[in-house]
Amino acid sequence: MTTQYKNLINGEMIAANAWLDVLNPANEEVMGQVPDASEAELNQAVAAARAAFPKWSKTPIEERRAVIQKISAAIKENADELFRLLTTEQGKPHEQAKGEIYGAAAMSAAQSTLSLDDEINEDSETRLSRTRRVPVGVVGGIVPWNFPVMMAVQKIAPALLAGCTIVLKPSPFTPVTTLRIAELIKDIVPAGVVNIITGDDSLGPLITAHPDIDKITFTGSTATGKKIMEGASKDLKRITLELGGNDASIVLPDANVEKVAEQLFWSSFSNAGQICVAAKRIYIHEDIYDELSAAIAEYAKNVKVGDGAQQGTGVGPIQNKKQYDRVIELVQDAKDNGYKFLVGGDHDPDVPGYYMPITIMDNPPEDARIVAEEQFGPVMPLMKFSSEDEVIARANASEYGLAGAVWTANPDKGVEIAEQLETGTVWVNEYLHLSPFAPFGGHKQSGFGAEYGQEGLSEFTYPQVITVKKDNVPA
Ligand code: NAD
Repeated sequence: MTTQYKNLINGEMIAANAWLDVLNPANEEVMGQVPDASEAELNQAVAAARAAFPKWSKTPIEERRAVIQKISAAIKENADELFRLLTTEQGKPHEQAKGEIYGAAAMSAAQSTLSLDDEINEDSETRLSRTRRVPVGVVGGIVPWNFPVMMAVQKIAPALLAGCTIVLKPSPFTPVTTLRIAELIKDIVPAGVVNIITGDDSLGPLITAHPDIDKITFTGSTATGKKIMEGASKDLKRITLELGGNDASIVLPDANVEKVAEQLFWSSFSNAGQICVAAKRIYIHEDIYDELSAAIAEYAKNVKVGDGAQQGTGVGPIQNKKQYDRVIELVQDAKDNGYKFLVGGDHDPDVPGYYMPITIMDNPPEDARIVAEEQFGPVMPLMKFSSEDEVIARANASEYGLAGAVWTANPDKGVEIAEQLETGTVWVNEYLHLSPFAPFGGHKQSGFGAEYGQEGLSEFTYPQVITVKKDNVPA
């Protein structure tokens, strides 16, 4: 029998009138069912979050911190069950699923150590002015399918620390592990403080439009982000948007080919390329292009594509049919235009599961769709460049501005180039590293606001300035 997972509303696990099937992308079989919540359940969840807000917002921050740490501990203690479940619904190999589960536990525990201290603006003989941070209220969290647990927890933790309550909506493609976590934290979190509800894509706009939600924190595509911004404008909800990216990696001629080949590979192919900050365009200096592209292609041949639950799999299936079809379309476009493939390119439509072979393209033109668009799949274009100015201009010629990387034997040169890239994060000689203490957010159409760090936490608050005129006390 198919396992059914319920929603967390006001401290209770609750079903809805209908169920949604969740598929295992490795074999397209139903791996679980979740409630297909309607507006009625959303209203219950929002009402619960609203009712819980006055008490939770006044709960001392140390107690709120302790609750987040208990959530983190519950995830860690159940990691073995959770990472297997995550692979079954999301597709990523077990080792990467483990990384997400332990990462979510570690990131939330670290986020819980942040503070919201008052800031003194003026403390003179005549006036004391300070800024305090007050929680915005009820938060609506909307999460994508590529890192469902990490994204859920990275919204819940700062919301709770700031004193907000939250109604969180996972992606309909990957809601199961999050609902299992809901069950695990049900008795840890006071009723109504965290509510998790699942439904199809019609639920998101209802959250954005809900008059009793004060802020939306969203991770997903730029196209949906724009709709959220529009919806939230009706009552000027606060918004944080973490959106798409088309990150460029720049490999300078002094880079150590042997060392960087493997790292460049995984910067693109971890999670089957379905990472907002994956390297989606790799620019290699012409002096080492042939050698490095051959080394990456050679490395790729030894990585196994398959069911993430099987030992030895390095790249799992694409998470869902819609994304699978999109990646196939981009590869087909490359074929139609006669672009060269170093590795891969041909998927087998008769095999169940959304498998795309590791595909590496040899120097397609800058206006190729596979270069200009966010592919979000296991397909990586390698491109040649000859001068720094040229490659910086090419890297920046994008509506996106999420992250990027520079690979070089000279870190100072790496930083010099990093400072010229129009993105929210730039790595020099590493990739995909996010710190719970540093703001993470996109420039241009990759986002609005930031998550993580003090800046991310502040987005769940309003500043309130209180000034006291010291020499004007009425008698
Ligand atoms: P998506 O935008 O299709 O969906 C994200 C979430 O929004 C889902 O929960 C979905 O149900 C919901 N949704 C859909 N339509 C909605 C609407 N009109 N109003 C409100 N909510 C709505 O994104 P996806 O396909 O799940 O995720 C892939 C995208 O997410 C990629 O573009 C990727 O780069 C981006 N992403 C960004 C980050 C980041 O931190 N910047 C992280 C992960 C993924």
